Amino acid sequence: MTEWGDGTRCVHSGSDGPVAGQPFLGGPVLAAPYHLGADDFYGRAGNPTWRALESAIGALDGGLCTVFPSGMAAITTMLRTLLSPGDVLIVPSDGYYLVRTFLAGLDVRVREVPTTGPWTADVVAGARLVLLESPSNPGLDVCDIKAVAELAHAAGALVAVDNTTATPLGQRPLELGADVSVASDTKALAGHSDVLFGHVTVTDEALWQELQRQRTVSGAIPGPFETWMVHRGLGTLDVRLARQAENAEALVAKLRGHEGVATVRWPGSPDDPSYAIASRQMRRFGGVFTFELASAELVTRFVGASALVSAATSFGGLHSTADRRAQWGDPVSEGMVRFSAGLEDSHDLVQDVVGALDRALAVPLQ
Ligand SMILES: *Cc1c(COP(=O)(O)O)cnc(C)c1O
Repeated sequence: MTEWGDGTRCVHSGSDGPVAGQPFLGGPVLAAPYHLGADDFYGRAGNPTWRALESAIGALDGGLCTVFPSGMAAITTMLRTLLSPGDVLIVPSDGYYLVRTFLAGLDVRVREVPTTGPWTADVVAGARLVLLESPSNPGLDVCDIKAVAELAHAAGALVAVDNTTATPLGQRPLELGADVSVASDTKALAGHSDVLFGHVTVTDEALWQELQRQRTVSGAIPGPFETWMVHRGLGTLDVRLARQAENAEALVAKLRGHEGVATVRWPGSPDDPSYAIASRQMRRFGGVFTFELASAELVTRFVGASALVSAATSFGGLHSTADRRAQWGDPVSEGMVRFSAGLEDSHDLVQDVVGALDRALAVPLQ
């Protein structure tokens, strides 16, 4: 059977097909209790708007999906579900920092390993769960998910991949051998900078049921309206990613040769350290790249001089944004910028960004 392309899958995944007189995407079902007598009885336990989106994301991820009100709610529920006191958890030392903050309160033994490894049998020995983030945030390093999954499984450990940066179109961790694909859909998947959201997709049905149960008992449930907004955004993920990647590629080419700009990283560049593995295991690249200016002050000047780029954290949205990561405590240089290419016209964006850099760098520092 031929597989539909990404655009087709985004538009049609999760749909039961046309029903006369019904909308293409049914609106959010707003219910606390339901009239008794069918599957749905109370809004904390089940909602048809969740199920529609879970069916869509699950189809893209290749597994059984559970949606959550944020990426952190997805990750922490996954960790609480899989880990018991005393377990060993491996987390990326360069990964999303809140995960480490949350873990400080759990009775699990945490081992930190850089995304680039080294990944050896010793490193994963005794672990219950290996949490990977590839490409990592904000470093954009990658690891060989298939190889790490084989190593981890041989040691009796499960593997979860934070797939936020890639999205289900950029990478399918479950196909690469991971047991869990978890993501913040606040970023590119929802894509409009107006909602927080997250999901966990797994292949094991018992684990899926347990995640659904954990959501019900914890009460960390997404609102139906937010869920519907994410579903609406998902329909255009393919075209949004395509424009974002096109813009990232054009900007990276200009920044690489720019005086005053150092260490430009984008996994989609053939000369990037991540490219060899990324191009093998990823299906396509996104719009997030990083570069370094010499100081925090230069980053402020650059953003101030740009008409199109806003200073904002998060990434993957319609608008181009620049985030100086050191301000959030990431262990990176003061002038390190995570840039999220938006959906502006490439020509406009390149002209604006290069012009803003030229102006920022032209003024002598005090
Ligand atoms: C943003 C992000 C999260 C947290 O997601 P929220 O939706 O903000 O809770 C987790 N992992 C990665 C890689 C992220 O970028």
